[in-house]
Amino acid sequence: MTAPLDVLVVGAGPTGLALAAQLRTYGTTFRIVDRSLDRAYESRALAIQPRTLEALAPFGVSDELVARGNPAMQLRMHLRHRVVPMRLFDIGLTDTAYPFLLFLSQAETESVLAEHLRGQGVDVERGTELDRVERTGSTVTCWLRHGDGTEEAVEATYVVGCDGAHSTVRAQAGIGFEGYAYPQTFLLADLEVDGLEPGAVHTYMTGAGMLFFFPLGSPATWRMLAMRTPGTPDTEVDLRLLQEITDRYTSDRLELRDPVWMTDFRLHNRGAAHYRSGPFFLAGDAAHIHSPAGAQGMNTGIQDALNLGWKLALVRRGRAPEELLETYEAERALVGSSVRRFTDRAFTIGTSHNPVIRFARTRLAPRLAPLALRATGPRGRVFRTVSELGIHYRRSPATTAGPRTPRRGPRPGDRLPDLPRGLQARTAGPGWQLLLTGPPAIWSDERLAAALRGRDDLISVHRLGGQSPWPNAVHALLRPDGYLGYVAAGTHMEGLRDYLERWLPARRS
Ligand SMILES: Cc1cc2nc3c(=O)[nH]c(=O)nc-3n(C[C@H](O)[C@H](O)[C@H](O)COP(=O)(O)OP(=O)(O)OC[C@H]3O[C@@H](n4cnc5c(N)ncnc54)[C@H](O)[C@@H]3O)c2cc1C
Repeated sequence: MTAPLDVLVVGAGPTGLALAAQLRTYGTTFRIVDRSLDRAYESRALAIQPRTLEALAPFGVSDELVARGNPAMQLRMHLRHRVVPMRLFDIGLTDTAYPFLLFLSQAETESVLAEHLRGQGVDVERGTELDRVERTGSTVTCWLRHGDGTEEAVEATYVVGCDGAHSTVRAQAGIGFEGYAYPQTFLLADLEVDGLEPGAVHTYMTGAGMLFFFPLGSPATWRMLAMRTPGTPDTEVDLRLLQEITDRYTSDRLELRDPVWMTDFRLHNRGAAHYRSGPFFLAGDAAHIHSPAGAQGMNTGIQDALNLGWKLALVRRGRAPEELLETYEAERALVGSSVRRFTDRAFTIGTSHNPVIRFARTRLAPRLAPLALRATGPRGRVFRTVSELGIHYRRSPATTAGPRTPRRGPRPGDRLPDLPRGLQARTAGPGWQLLLTGPPAIWSDERLAAALRGRDDLISVHRLGGQSPWPNAVHALLRPDGYLGYVAAGTHMEGLRDYLERWLPARRS
């Protein structure tokens, strides 16, 4: 009989691929299966946020993503009599190596992640569907159905549902998925458009709603996204309908042609009641779905995965307590709900027929947005939320402030900023990192050895001197996902020892 897998990853969209990449670095035993025979080629997400690029950088894929994408995209807001250009790069962020919204199709993002996995000897098992599960003692029996109709029973300690909005894992674990559908219908098409300036995102803000054209490149030059005119029947989507809507929403003479893909869809805003139930975990669209406003869905899913993978790996190896797994929901469900709220607000502003909101959308926003974007401060603040750089786990049970917390610099639960530039690369996982700042001589080897005893194989020590985001002497413990678990001013390490004893107990050998 074969030993149970540590983890079965169900679904090889961006969330499952990112989870597999992280599990691989820890030597966790896992399989990743996907019911579809091939990856998706029609692209959904079109943009990668700075925090996702930072989080993926330790796997060595972010440079490739940037090379394949467009980091210097311009947004052109079309008003009745003028066009307002706005930059989606150089956005006033100084503490990240990726101060831009990277335009890259989801198909390309998935292809880069899948190539990385192949290079690591991990194959996605396609044409393999999770059918049902059964809890058996300390493991789960997972019934997989293969393309040829055969069934296979696989034992796994944990099962992670990265299987999208209609998640089988979620249903099998009996986890609810509450929320609502928006009443509007949207039209989506990949096609050619004559009359549009190439290489920019075009938005048309009208009283009736919004129309977008995104530069896609492949399989067509443009991705069109528009709201179906309210009150019109849900007729089949064809070129004539798309042209009619374009003519209604813009006075520019745009000629649509050669559609490669056309569809319509309704949007939902829903969240899983729990992100964990016993051995079952949910990540990505299986845990939260919302409007594409703000380009958050795929990014949030990838970051769910990178919050969970190292926790599963360390608990499975017996190096961290079971309790660490509880912090996954504590940390990521808050992020999921805040993304649902924020995208809902953006969506309501973009589609509402309320006269006040409509006035704000069509008249005020276009005038104020360029002014706000010109001022570095507000521009940075807005972009910090959208870029997901502002995500923190300050209220997580796995976040602790030392007896003396530094007054300035990043706080416990924050991401480690890339300040000075290169700091993130220098301190990247897979393990934990102990950061020591101030004169190197103040950190006595004996005190360090005492704090790290029994877990020094999992913690790397960095004496940063003055090259750190804190102005004074600080010791800080960086988690494998780039967030600060513990931060204290000064050189007394009792608090750090307590933190480590709780979350990374010494090996008793
Ligand atoms: C029009 C549109 C535009 C969007 N734009 C953006 C954007 O700009 N930025 C952004 O961040 N997000 C965007 N999104 C959202 C983004 O596409 C999703 O959030 C993302 O695909 C979620 O990834 P995932 O891996 O969690 O799920 P999915 O991509 O849905 O992958 C789930 C996988 O699980 C597999 N699967 C399902 N059930 C089973 C089973 N029982 N057994 C085995 N395999 C199974 C499926 O075949 C699939 O491959 C957009 C979405 C849409 C619809």
